[in-house]
Amino acid sequence: MTDTYAVINLNTLTSNAKALTEKYSEYGAFIGIVKGDAYGHGYECVNALQKGGISYFAVSSLEEAESFRKFNTSAPLLCLEPVAIRKLDAAAELKLTLAVPDLGYARELTSSGCKYPFKLHLQIDSGFNRLGFKDKNEVKKAADMIESSPYTLEGVYQHYATAGVFDPYYDAQTQRFRELTSLLDLSKIPLVHLGSGTALMAHPKEDIATATRIGLAMYGYNIAPESYGGGIINKLREARDKHYQKKYNLTETIRDVQIDLKPAISLKTRIIQLKDVAKGEHIGYLAAYTAEEDMRIAVLPIGYNNGIGHHDDGRVVEINGKLCPVVGAIGMNMMAVKVDGSVGYDDEVTLLGGKITLGMFSRFSGLGLAEVLLGVGKNNKRYYVEE
Ligand SMILES: *Cc1c(COP(=O)(O)O)cnc(C)c1O
Repeated sequence: MTDTYAVINLNTLTSNAKALTEKYSEYGAFIGIVKGDAYGHGYECVNALQKGGISYFAVSSLEEAESFRKFNTSAPLLCLEPVAIRKLDAAAELKLTLAVPDLGYARELTSSGCKYPFKLHLQIDSGFNRLGFKDKNEVKKAADMIESSPYTLEGVYQHYATAGVFDPYYDAQTQRFRELTSLLDLSKIPLVHLGSGTALMAHPKEDIATATRIGLAMYGYNIAPESYGGGIINKLREARDKHYQKKYNLTETIRDVQIDLKPAISLKTRIIQLKDVAKGEHIGYLAAYTAEEDMRIAVLPIGYNNGIGHHDDGRVVEINGKLCPVVGAIGMNMMAVKVDGSVGYDDEVTLLGGKITLGMFSRFSGLGLAEVLLGVGKNNKRYYVEE
């Protein structure tokens, strides 16, 4: 085993997928988002997710699809970014479902001559202003082109730009999606999927939705908004939100969702040197840290080369159930933490997992939640366990 490594528990991924697919069983299909090397968990994990009820998957690119197919040759797989027309043969070989982001692409695709019976999903831009159609007549034209092509229109979808917690823009986007698809007969399109994990957990199902897409939640993070909490201020906040919700006819926000999700990935390292430092001595680059007392430190073989960033906003690591603060700057491959006399060379060090939540790590590092997972998963050797 390498000194620093990520551990991924496959059974945890299965039970997360199961918890989500059971709780939200009003959706007919679950599209597991496995872009970015499955949020750093690796395509080794897709079968564990499938076992938990994820029936469809989505990646960003042809290259990711290739990696996915090394572990699963048959699950339906949507490529969220448009595949270059010159690469359609490769997409056919990978049995990809293709996203169609605009009329020009629909035209090129349907006149490409590629004989593979592609399933297609129309991508609607409901306010993100990235990929997707912005004109309902063009949506209709694309659907008609597909109708008279060797391909099948299997899906239509959009992606929310805002998470939608007490959010008029959330409703505006849903409304925009309805308008842009109003010339289609949605009941004839098997997969109508809106949103992401937060949209799923924080809002009631839209009547038109027949499927949903889940990313972060599947890897074990309850991203639903927290409850208001106690106290008079929060009571007032709640009353104010309810008032505006009614007044402006906003979609309900569901808080404090009860669901058993557990993080599947953790990041571990070991101690490579224990050392005593006297009061007044400096630790690390630029001698930026000065010991305010005599202390013992543990040197760890982990740094920004391991995808954790160099930013340190009060970062702690866990050793023997205790939280130990970083002392001195985080280097490329090394950092040091302050420990007590009970710590020994064989003690396991945890940087993510155990007492250290993804939210804590994100604050220490200044990285976003998914960004932390990518950094940890993609820059370290991964070991898979099932227990
Ligand atoms: C990344 C992504 C998701 C998943 O988002 P989460 O917030 O991780 O649930 C869903 N849909 C699309 C199109 C995405 O790009």
